[in-house]
Amino acid sequence: MKPNNALDLINLHTLPPKGVDWVKHTGKGVTKSWHVVNPPKFDADMTKIFSDNLVEICDYKLQLILKRQKVLKSELKKRVKFLLTTNLTEGERVILTGLSAAWYAEYFTLEKWSHYWTNIWLQVSEEKKKKYTTVLNKKIQFEEKVRKAKDFLLEDLYPGQLRGAGSRLTGTCPFHNPEGEREKSPSFFIFNDNHFHCFSCGEKGDSIDFVMKTLKLDFNEAIERILNGHT
Ligand SMILES: [Zn+2]
Repeated sequence: MKPNNALDLINLHTLPPKGVDWVKHTGKGVTKSWHVVNPPKFDADMTKIFSDNLVEICDYKLQLILKRQKVLKSELKKRVKFLLTTNLTEGERVILTGLSAAWYAEYFTLEKWSHYWTNIWLQVSEEKKKKYTTVLNKKIQFEEKVRKAKDFLLEDLYPGQLRGAGSRLTGTCPFHNPEGEREKSPSFFIFNDNHFHCFSCGEKGDSIDFVMKTLKLDFNEAIERILNGHT
């Protein structure tokens, strides 16, 4: 819409949308009014508490702000053009000056809100990155531990005597013969790929399985036991 007179220009001024953070509405009826409010002080600790969906909230808030700034900018263009090309009465000038003050106040308050949400967005992204890196590092460390525990030689975990038999080692089975009584012919074998198999009771597995079964530990406990050398 192209303003033809001062009244047009006053009507052109769109009020800030309802329910936005940067405007506070006061009064009722004829005393109805509004003024702009500044964003709260940026608090990095608060962003930690609400970090779960803050990225989405920041996106939404910044979009609202940009949309409103665009409207205000286009109003300014029309206003400047009008003021440059029109002779105004003193009354019109007063009204338009007041309106311009309101426009500037809103526009620059929006700049502050824009910084506010951008700061939060940066903070949250940084937190997410840190959290993700910690989780990833823990996963890598754990996988490394599992690998080391599996590579730990079964012959060093085996509690008794072993005899060489070709590329395999053999001894009494700690599972079906836990007291270590001598079997007539040992059926427990350790193979050179570091896995065990008892051909009598069927127990088989790797180093972690061996420690879990002989010491009745869970997976994590068995790994700690192997790596800390308390077998
Ligand atoms: Zn056995």
